[in-house]
Amino acid sequence: MKLGNIKIEVDGSKCRNPMECQKCMRVCPQVVFAAIPTKPKKYELSKDFSLFAPFEAACVLCNLCTSVCPNDAIKITSRGGEKTP
Ligand code: SF4
Ligand code: SF4
Repeated sequence: MKLGNIKIEVDGSKCRNPMECQKCMRVCPQVVFAAIPTKPKKYELSKDFSLFAPFEAACVLCNLCTSVCPNDAIKITSRGGEKTP
């Protein structure tokens, strides 16, 4: 599979508290993931975050994130729909 042709989806119903877990963010060598406040409020630190993969194009398909995720929340596919091992 050609690198850079990758789609990474995070199931928010399985990844409920990414800032508490952080396992995928810590293990990813390419810093693909980011936790973004769900409902940002002015002058207040947000408590609700959602995990995204804004830098999925940098993914090297090492699958470290999928193996450390305790909730099986990360799905990596090629743009053609082929699931990675
Ligand atoms: S497969 Fe590897 S490089 Fe790609 S997002 Fe997961 S940990 Fe990062
Ligand atoms: S390892 Fe899984 S549960 Fe933990 S932050 Fe990443 S996607 Fe969410």
